[in-house]
Amino acid sequence: MSVNIKNNNLGEMPVTTLQGVGPRNAERLGRLGINTVQDVLFHLPSRYQDRTRVVPIGSLRPGEQVVVEGEVELSDIRFGRRRSLLVQIADGSGSLMLRFFHFSAAQKANLVRGVRLRCFGEVRRGPVSLELIHPEYSRLEEGDESAVEETLTPIYPTTEGMHQLSWRSMTERALAVLEEQPGLLHEWLPQELLDRYNLPALLETVRFLHRPPPDVSQHQLLEGDHPAQRRLAFEELLAHQISLRKLRHEQRKTAAPMLDGGDRLGKMLLAALPFKLTAAQQRVVGEISSDLKQRHPMMRLVQGDVGSGKTVVAALAAVQAVEAHHQVVLMAPTELLAEQHLRNFQGWLEPLGIKVAWLTGRHKGKKREQVLSQLVDGSAAVIVGTHALFQGDVQFKSLGLAIIDEQHRFGVHQRLALREKGAENGRVPHQLIMTATPIPRTLAMSAYADLDVSVIDELPPGRKPVATVVIPDSRREEVISRVRSACKEGRQTYWVCTLIEESEALQCQAAEDTAALLAEALPELNVGLVHGRLKASDKEQIMLDFKSGKLDLLVATTVIEVGVDVPNASLMIIENPERLGLAQLHQLRGRVGRGAAESHCVLMYHLLSESARERLSIMRATNDGFAIAQKDLELRGPGEVLGTRQTGEMQLRIADLVHHQSLLPEVQQAAETVLERYPAHAQPLVRRWLGQKTEYGSV
Ligand code: ADP
Ligand code: MG
Repeated sequence: MSVNIKNNNLGEMPVTTLQGVGPRNAERLGRLGINTVQDVLFHLPSRYQDRTRVVPIGSLRPGEQVVVEGEVELSDIRFGRRRSLLVQIADGSGSLMLRFFHFSAAQKANLVRGVRLRCFGEVRRGPVSLELIHPEYSRLEEGDESAVEETLTPIYPTTEGMHQLSWRSMTERALAVLEEQPGLLHEWLPQELLDRYNLPALLETVRFLHRPPPDVSQHQLLEGDHPAQRRLAFEELLAHQISLRKLRHEQRKTAAPMLDGGDRLGKMLLAALPFKLTAAQQRVVGEISSDLKQRHPMMRLVQGDVGSGKTVVAALAAVQAVEAHHQVVLMAPTELLAEQHLRNFQGWLEPLGIKVAWLTGRHKGKKREQVLSQLVDGSAAVIVGTHALFQGDVQFKSLGLAIIDEQHRFGVHQRLALREKGAENGRVPHQLIMTATPIPRTLAMSAYADLDVSVIDELPPGRKPVATVVIPDSRREEVISRVRSACKEGRQTYWVCTLIEESEALQCQAAEDTAALLAEALPELNVGLVHGRLKASDKEQIMLDFKSGKLDLLVATTVIEVGVDVPNASLMIIENPERLGLAQLHQLRGRVGRGAAESHCVLMYHLLSESARERLSIMRATNDGFAIAQKDLELRGPGEVLGTRQTGEMQLRIADLVHHQSLLPEVQQAAETVLERYPAHAQPLVRRWLGQKTEYGSV
C-alpha cells in the first residue's frame, strides 16, 4: 500500500528537535525506545502526585504525599546515630518535622525560625511527630503567594540519568509544540470509530494523560481504566491487529502446492487405527484437508487439550501431502517428543509404504548427510525432528506441508524461516501448528490474528478426569505406600521431581537421588529414571520399558512434560508443584488419565505461598485446559502464557492484554472497518505503534 504521509508529523521529528534535549539525553531516551517527539508523548506517566492543594498539617496521615506550608519554629542539628538537621514547621493547625540527613551549611543557615516554607514529600511517622524526610521545599517570601500546581504532577517511568524534572520539562515542550501545531499529531482513528466506541480524540487524550486536572480519579488512572488510557490502548491494539491481518493477507496471496492427490492413503490409515476419530477430530481433519487443497498456503493453528488426539490429525494431513507427491516436515520442541512422534508416524505410515526419516541436533557427520540427501532426492517423504530442521543446509525436494507441534515455543519468525526454507518457484508450504497449551480466546484473537484456528474440544471416549489432591511432603510415607498399592494392582506411576535450581545437572542429581530412595523403599517394584542428561538412546529405551510395563515406577524430571503417552499409567506424584506454573502442571498431569482406569495426581508441596496455594487449588478444582489457561493468564500475564511470541514480537507500550481484554472484540471490528473503509489509515497506524517491527507485517 502506498500512502503519502508528509514528514511533517511528530512521528518523524527526532527528540533532539525539542529544546534542551541533546545527544546525551537522546541516547538515554533511545534505551527506552523513545526516538521521536511522538514517542515522548506516548511515554505515559506511571503515576501522579497531587501538588495542586496545600494540606493543613493538622490533617496529615502517614503514607500520603502532600504539599504543606508552614513557618519554621525550630531548627536544630542532632548528633544521634546519624547526624541530621531537624526543622519543625507549623501552620496553626499542627506541626510537622522536616528531617535532612544530607545538608549544607548554607541550607541550615536558611532554615531558621520565622522563615515560611512550602514543602512536598511523603508523610511518615517519626519518633515524636509526623515527619517529611528530605522533602522538596522552597522559601515563601513575604507577600509571595505563588500558585500551587494546576494539574497533577506526572511521574514517568525512567532510565538512569533522566530525572523527573527533565521529563516534566521535556513533555512540557512536546505539549507546547502540539499546542501550536495540533496537526502534527495526526488522528488516525476515523471519526466513525471514535463515535462508535465513544473514544476521546487523540489530542485531548495525550494532553490529559500528561497533565490531568486535580479532580480526576487517581485510582482509575493507576488501574489504567480511565477513558483516555483505554483510548490509547485501543489504538495500540488496533495497530497490532491490523498488522497481523495484513501479514495474514500477504501470506494468503502467495502460492502453495495444491495437495489434491486423493484420499486413498488417508482411508487406509483410518482403517488401520484401533479407534474411531472423535467428532471434533473429524471436523478438524476436514478443515485441514480442504485448506490443503487450496492454491494458497494454509496457516492453521490446532488447539486441543492434552490427550485430545492431535497427533493422528497431523498424520492424516501428512498422508494427504504425501499422496499428492509432496514432502512433510514435523517439528517438535524437544527430542523426547520428536522421538515419540517418530515412533507414532513410523507405526502409522510405514505400513502404507511411506518412509519416515528423522533429524535432531544429535545427528552429526555421515548419519546427518545421509538424512539430508534423502530429503533432497525425495526418498524420505516425511521427516520428523527438532530445531535442527531450521538449519541452513536442510533442503527438500518438494516440501508441501510443515507441521509444528507445541507452537507456543516457536515464534512467528521461526515459522516464517521454515516457510522460506520450503519456498520453491515462488510457492511456500502449508503450515499446521498444533498446541496443547490452550490459549484463552481473547488472547488468541490478538496474538494469533494471522492464523486460522481449529479447536479439538472433545476428548476420546472413556477418559475420566484426573482426581487431584494437594498434600504436604511431610506425608511422603503415605504417598509412597499409595504408589506401592497402585503398582501392586498392575498400574504404573510417574514420580516427577522439580527443582528450583537452574542447573540441569543438579536437577538430574536430585532425580537420581529420589529414584535411589524410592527403589530402596519399594524393593518389590521396578524403578526407572529418565532425565535430560541421558543419551537419547537410553532415554528412549527407558520410555519403551515403561510403556511396555517392564517398569512400574518412572522417576523423571520435567522432561516428560510434553506429549509422552503411556495409557496404563494412572498415578502421578509431582514433588514441589508450587514451583511450577499452571500450564506446566496441566501438561504434566495430562500424562495420566489416558487409559480406562481412574487416575490420580498427588501434588506434594513443600512450602506454599499465597499464589502457589491459589494455583494448586485451581488444579484441584478443574481438568479443563481452557479454564486453567484463563487463570494462568490472569495470574502470570500474557508474556508467560504465550512464550516467545508475546515477549519478542508483541510488546505493548500502553495496552495490557489481560487488563484490556474486554476491548479486543471491538478492536477486531474496528480493524475490519479500517481495512475496508479507511485503508490509507492502516499503514500509519501500524507505523506509529510498531515502528521498525512493521517489516514482518509486509513480508
Ligand atoms: P495430544 O493431543 O496430547 O497430542 P495424542 O495425539 O498423543 O494427544 O493422543 C493421546 C492418545 O489418545 C494416544 O494414545 C492416541 O493414540 C489416542 N487417541 C487419539 N485419538 C483417539 C480416539 N479418537 N479414540 C481413542 N484414542 C485416541
Ligand atoms: Mg501431542
